[in-house]
Amino acid sequence: MTFMQHAYMNEVLSYSPGAASLFGVVAPNSGNQKILVKYGSPEQQEKWLAPLIEGTMQSGFSMTEPANAGSDPRSIKTTATLDGDEWVINGHKWFTSNGHAADFYIVMCRTADENDPSGENSKMTQIIVPKDTPGVNVVRGVPVWGKPSSHCEIVYDNVRVPKENQLGQTGSGHQAAQDRLGAGRVYHCMNSIGSMWRAFDLMVSRLKTREVHGGEKLADKQFMQGFVADSYIDIQSARLMTIHCAEKMESGDDPRTDISAIKVYVPNAYHRVVDRAIQVYGAAGVSGDLPLAGMYEGARTLRIADGPDEVHKVLIAKLVMRQYEKGDSWDFGN
Ligand SMILES: Cc1cc2nc3c(=O)[nH]c(=O)nc-3n(C[C@H](O)[C@H](O)[C@H](O)COP(=O)(O)OP(=O)(O)OC[C@H]3O[C@@H](n4cnc5c(N)ncnc54)[C@H](O)[C@@H]3O)c2cc1C
Repeated sequence: MTFMQHAYMNEVLSYSPGAASLFGVVAPNSGNQKILVKYGSPEQQEKWLAPLIEGTMQSGFSMTEPANAGSDPRSIKTTATLDGDEWVINGHKWFTSNGHAADFYIVMCRTADENDPSGENSKMTQIIVPKDTPGVNVVRGVPVWGKPSSHCEIVYDNVRVPKENQLGQTGSGHQAAQDRLGAGRVYHCMNSIGSMWRAFDLMVSRLKTREVHGGEKLADKQFMQGFVADSYIDIQSARLMTIHCAEKMESGDDPRTDISAIKVYVPNAYHRVVDRAIQVYGAAGVSGDLPLAGMYEGARTLRIADGPDEVHKVLIAKLVMRQYEKGDSWDFGN
């Protein structure tokens, strides 16, 4: 399957909540599969990737720490030190999604001291840690939006794993995280677009049938027509931006500005569309009888997960300014 096909598939599957997990293309397993494909040795692929694809194993990605800014992965304090043929891991993570069900975690560890002369981006290594390894303490699923969750807080206390559990070269963890997130952000955005589409369909069908004061349909009210138009614009612009970004990635162009742009724009557009759909449905909109309340929470969360809006805006500005500093202007595709 090509990258573009995968992206479109995400859009189709996310129209129905739950479909992506049914087909085994849901985070964090999907991102971990990508890392194992690119950085895994043949032995690692046989042991961890094949069962992930077959659906006989589950996984988590353990990077964020409560005591350090997750938006700056270089701040990670969890360490892995070599003792003979083993990595010894110590650290405190949280928001490791799928943490309860996972059979193994890919743990982002500091393998070079902060003062080490190796480059700023060469001090981290990703290491596979089976969940049943002594010293892996799953403290709790951190409640999210007032509900129990499988986004776990985990303490790694002198956890020993064989050296061959490291993914790629020592120090390649930062780059691996970037590789994981680049494609993942396109997939997440296509997921959001599929969900927006569903919310839009739900909203319009309700407008056509719901009668209000005097027996008029909601669809005849100008406020509501504004919701339809604004949502159409949000979905169409989010979709075209994301497809444009995905095409750039597939053709090998530098997609960094576009990735950050969709990472900011799409979850915000998703948030607006679902908000309007909820308003149209009234009380039913916030009930558990429709998927809208769950979508609303998901859209809001996406503005933080995988890098908060502000970090991506900073990057967009930096990349655009750099172009102008070179004496060029920005090429919007003329
Ligand atoms: C539901 C959910 C699932 C998650 N799943 C995983 C997972 O599976 N694995 C994992 O490792 N992590 C996961 N995360 C963690 C997520 O990646 C981090 O929450 C995210 O990177 C932000 O880090 P932080 O929470 O430490 O916020 P911080 O880094 O403390 O940032 C807090 C706020 O500060 C502001 N800010 C930060 N930097 C800047 C800046 N440079 N300029 C201006 N403002 C700034 C932003 O508004 C930001 O929201 C998940 C999070 C959520 C909510």
